[in-house]
Amino acid sequence: MEYDYLIIGAGMTADAAARGIRERDERGTIGLLGTELDPPYNRPPLSKGLWKGDALESIWRNTADVRADLHLGRKAVKLDRKNHVVEDDRGARYSYKKLLLATGGVPRTLPGAPEGIIYYRTLEDYRRVRALATDRRGFGVLGGGFIGTEVAAALRMQGAGVTMIVPEQGLCARVFPGDLSLALVDFYREKGLRVEIGQTVKQISTRGNGFTLRLADGTEIGTDAVVAGLGIQPNAELASQAGLRVDNGIVVDELLRTDDPDISAAGDVANFYNPALDQRIRVEHEDNANSMGKTAGRNMAGAGERYHYLPSFYSDLFELGYEAVGELDARLETFSDWKTPFREGVVYYLESGRVRGVLLWNTWNQVDAARALIAEPGPWSAANLAGRLPA
Ligand SMILES: Cc1cc2nc3c(=O)[nH]c(=O)nc-3n(C[C@H](O)[C@H](O)[C@H](O)COP(=O)(O)OP(=O)(O)OC[C@H]3O[C@@H](n4cnc5c(N)ncnc54)[C@H](O)[C@@H]3O)c2cc1C
Repeated sequence: MEYDYLIIGAGMTADAAARGIRERDERGTIGLLGTELDPPYNRPPLSKGLWKGDALESIWRNTADVRADLHLGRKAVKLDRKNHVVEDDRGARYSYKKLLLATGGVPRTLPGAPEGIIYYRTLEDYRRVRALATDRRGFGVLGGGFIGTEVAAALRMQGAGVTMIVPEQGLCARVFPGDLSLALVDFYREKGLRVEIGQTVKQISTRGNGFTLRLADGTEIGTDAVVAGLGIQPNAELASQAGLRVDNGIVVDELLRTDDPDISAAGDVANFYNPALDQRIRVEHEDNANSMGKTAGRNMAGAGERYHYLPSFYSDLFELGYEAVGELDARLETFSDWKTPFREGVVYYLESGRVRGVLLWNTWNQVDAARALIAEPGPWSAANLAGRLPA
């Protein structure tokens, strides 16, 4: 198989890249190679829309529409840069002129844990959890970050019993200021979930068709199923094996090329420079997958555009929702400007008088204004930020 453009990974970034290529090149051949059996789909609905009644059909990206060949259920295992050839796990070979690594991330797993724990990432994981959730079973949800909080809310909304085990002292505690993160724990408890904060799982054993979770303080919790959201690791194996630079993801330049000018990387797996934050970042969010994927595709087809975009992200937690942009790190100084405490307002993340990130809590259509604020030199403080957004 010979392709002008070959894309490894068949997720959102890959789809966006194929579309980006087509914006500039009508004729070039495009091939996508993906480990999952499903064609590219939107991942965010797996923990949101699909649980609220959205049809499964609504998540497909319809990548074949841009005349891209999909090779699914196949993992790229070898990259021969010299000969411009990729080999998959069944021995098939694909040649390329331009290659994109859009391999995303793999979920972190618990060493020594028994089979049957669902490390939530794919549509297949959704199908498994959905099949279990209909029986109103008891779920253990490990992790209180983006995936843990969303999946726990989704399960609870189906009537399932949910116990969350969260090592930090609150929900999304690495991202939200301490008071908001604790208010979220109260909110989840009011919704009928059991939330164990500051607790780690020491051991998981099987018990009949279910599991027993043994916590560090000796507490034992029986569950019918366990879903884990422990974060991801960038899937940079192929790049490392081919001698490309990897440092918290595959390192790319402003045109999204690796050290090899014929190989680009984008999406969750790529480590890139962002001028507004003046640092290298790796972003695990949809807006970045779409915008970076598109730019990578356009650049593979010769556009030469620098990727200077500061991506945003969002989440829904029961009836609460937020959008955010920039660096949301709970270790930064924060200023919370609440209209209604923990229900509606804006949280600013500050460092040396600059706004590094903005959390728009039940506050909508302000992402561009927040981005502009991050680009401004300031100096900013609580005094001149109060009431600044919504603009
Ligand atoms: C449940 C869930 C909910 C989310 N919700 C939100 C949200 O609300 N807001 C938000 O901004 N972001 C959200 N995200 C994050 C967002 O979905 C990701 O940022 C996005 O999917 C990244 O896309 P990607 O294509 O770069 O990587 P991935 O989605 O990881 O796709 C990479 C693909 O490449 C395949 N692959 C890897 N290695 C190989 C190989 N060697 N050969 C072939 N194929 C390979 C993988 O199997 C995978 O299918 C959510 C993620 C999940 C899992």
